[in-house]
Amino acid sequence: MSFTVTCPICGKRDLYEFRFGGEERGPRPDEAGLTPESWCDWLHLRTNRGGPQLEWWYHHQGCGTWFSIWRDTLTNREVRPLEEES
Ligand SMILES: [Zn+2]
Repeated sequence: MSFTVTCPICGKRDLYEFRFGGEERGPRPDEAGLTPESWCDWLHLRTNRGGPQLEWWYHHQGCGTWFSIWRDTLTNREVRPLEEES
């Protein structure tokens, strides 16, 4: 299945020009009180949400920029974030 991704530098391009960088996870956890289990969870577990999710993408056949977009994982279409999720 193909879809388009909008690079902030180059504009809307075909998916095959990009590499998926994973879902946005937020900042690294604070080391104070960090356990090996909580570090392992942050490092390896993903939400794998069905619906809108903020993701990292890399334009490897274009400008070489890392950027994030909201994509609906059920439709593979870029979406605008809902007010409460932004
Ligand atoms: Zn680009």
